[in-house]
Amino acid sequence: MPYSNSLTFGPIPSRRFGISLGIDLSPATKQCNFDCLYCELEAAATVTTMETFPKVSEVVRAVQDAFAKHEKIDVLTITANGEPTLYPHLDRLVDELDKIKGNAKTLILSNGANIYDKSIQQTLTKIDTVKLSLDCVSLSCFKKLDRIDSTIDVEQIVEGMIEFRALHKKAFVLEVLFVKTLNDKPKEIELLYEAIKKINPDRVDIGTIDRPPAYKVKPVTYETLSSIANSFEGINVNIAYKNRPKAVQNFDEDEIISLLQRRPLTLEDIDNLFTQKSQISLQSLVNSGKVKLVDSSGVKFYKIL
Ligand code: SF4
Repeated sequence: MPYSNSLTFGPIPSRRFGISLGIDLSPATKQCNFDCLYCELEAAATVTTMETFPKVSEVVRAVQDAFAKHEKIDVLTITANGEPTLYPHLDRLVDELDKIKGNAKTLILSNGANIYDKSIQQTLTKIDTVKLSLDCVSLSCFKKLDRIDSTIDVEQIVEGMIEFRALHKKAFVLEVLFVKTLNDKPKEIELLYEAIKKINPDRVDIGTIDRPPAYKVKPVTYETLSSIANSFEGINVNIAYKNRPKAVQNFDEDEIISLLQRRPLTLEDIDNLFTQKSQISLQSLVNSGKVKLVDSSGVKFYKIL
């Protein structure tokens, strides 16, 4: 799961969400029920509860101080050096944040392992945007890549996400981080696609390692991510990849429609794949109402509705 790795009681500019204030619920040490090979934190034994954590009142005070110093905070991002749903007072904290957040939105970044816990589901339904990781579907992949705590029942994770989707009326985003030779194999990708279709999130962010990982693992290439995105037919897939190679081509209107029928494309995809002429053709499809530009939890997609 991505996290802000400082104490994060300070504004973090984010293109996608505006100004985000990160709330780290495990500032002193890593406390996680996973020990992912790609983690940006040092390797650590898994835990199922947090032993050291700030009090709700301390977090609320820090957030109030940040609001006093920074007029415009758009998003309160609940995160941790580890897994934020292990914070024992998460439900109360979310209620307290709701009282003071004003127009700001709440966002949580979680590894998704606790999503089959009904009380966690109820707490997360109160949060404006819930972003859960799902790197694997098979048990062997979860064990090798996410190095899960032995108490986690991976078979219930996808079911828990499906249940949560039915409960959560606000934004729900899934994130998949691909690691070379681990979850980039066709069988795992197929399992992921089948699971994603059933879960039906608003958007799926796919990416790879872009910071030094805890263990010796390698990122996949942009081409691999692009090919995976194309295989996730009909899903709002957002490829997160720094410095994408540019590969512009000419597409006529029919080709654009057929591309978008296969998969909605982000503004970044268009910038990377479409020549100027094709972008003009796309705009004329938008003007005629055949293609719409829609927002999915902060990411804009061209799609056929
Ligand atoms: S879920 Fe994985 S990447 Fe996120 S903190 Fe835990 S071990 Fe690190």
